[in-house]
Amino acid sequence: MTRTVYVNGDYLPETDAKISIFDRGFLMADAVYEVTSVLDGKLIDFAGHMTRLHRSLSELDMDAPVTDAELEAIHRELINRNDLTEGGIYLQVTRGAADRDFVFPENATPSLVLFTQAKPIIDAPAARTGIRVISIPDIRWGRRDIKTVQLLAPSLGKMQAKKAGCDDAWQIEDGYVTEGTSNNAYIVDEHGTLITRDLSNAILHGITRAAVLRYAREHQVRVEERSFTIEEAKNAAEAFITSASTFVMPVVEIDGTKIGAGEPGPTAKRLREIYIEESLKAAV
Ligand code: PMP
Repeated sequence: MTRTVYVNGDYLPETDAKISIFDRGFLMADAVYEVTSVLDGKLIDFAGHMTRLHRSLSELDMDAPVTDAELEAIHRELINRNDLTEGGIYLQVTRGAADRDFVFPENATPSLVLFTQAKPIIDAPAARTGIRVISIPDIRWGRRDIKTVQLLAPSLGKMQAKKAGCDDAWQIEDGYVTEGTSNNAYIVDEHGTLITRDLSNAILHGITRAAVLRYAREHQVRVEERSFTIEEAKNAAEAFITSASTFVMPVVEIDGTKIGAGEPGPTAKRLREIYIEESLKAAV
């Protein structure tokens, strides 16, 4: 099936969509992105993704290409034109096209690209079995709080995991877990306390993370936002990850060590159910 995608004001078949070779997103990864999940043809936490997009843009002194209302309208148009019921919408803003130079161009027009990806999220098979992760050094830059398209380090990390017969990798810096390659990382201790790294420039401020921590607290789960080591994780009762494209996803093995009983734990399963239920209620 040929998707209809959006490029700089036009809805086009994906095969006809084009971006300049001088686009700074292509030449310098001078671009930011968001992925908003879609359930029942509706957007999950769209406001949260827009807030983070504006923060990423402003940290890089980049202009928003269109208003939030226009962005929302484009999301909806793509859902309709592609009959998307479940999956995600990828959005990328680049600083635009200009002759190659490290210095920002004076008056480049930002590029805006959006496309849909259909995929089962609620009934993802991995949610039943859990995933297996390896630990790797975190080789990314120091501003991981900005959602840029510099994704080579996470891509290499996922390939390393795949070669090891695993699903993903948790990144380690100064002895502590930062986050997964494309998700936030959590453990649950023997008392049922949820532990996840505190917010800083070292990790992406996940939109799913914010929602899951809010739901956890509302459901009387004790939450500690602090760093943890991979040894602490291996000895934890449970582990899981969150992201817009996986929601809450149990982790059952780290570096070959089974976590808890080696199957999805009760806290992860419960938070996944709550997250899906609440997200469906709040979807727009
Ligand atoms: N950390 C990283 C490095 C990510 O790439 C992502 C997903 N893009 C996340 C965390 C999770 O963020 P969100 O819940 O907003 O998808």
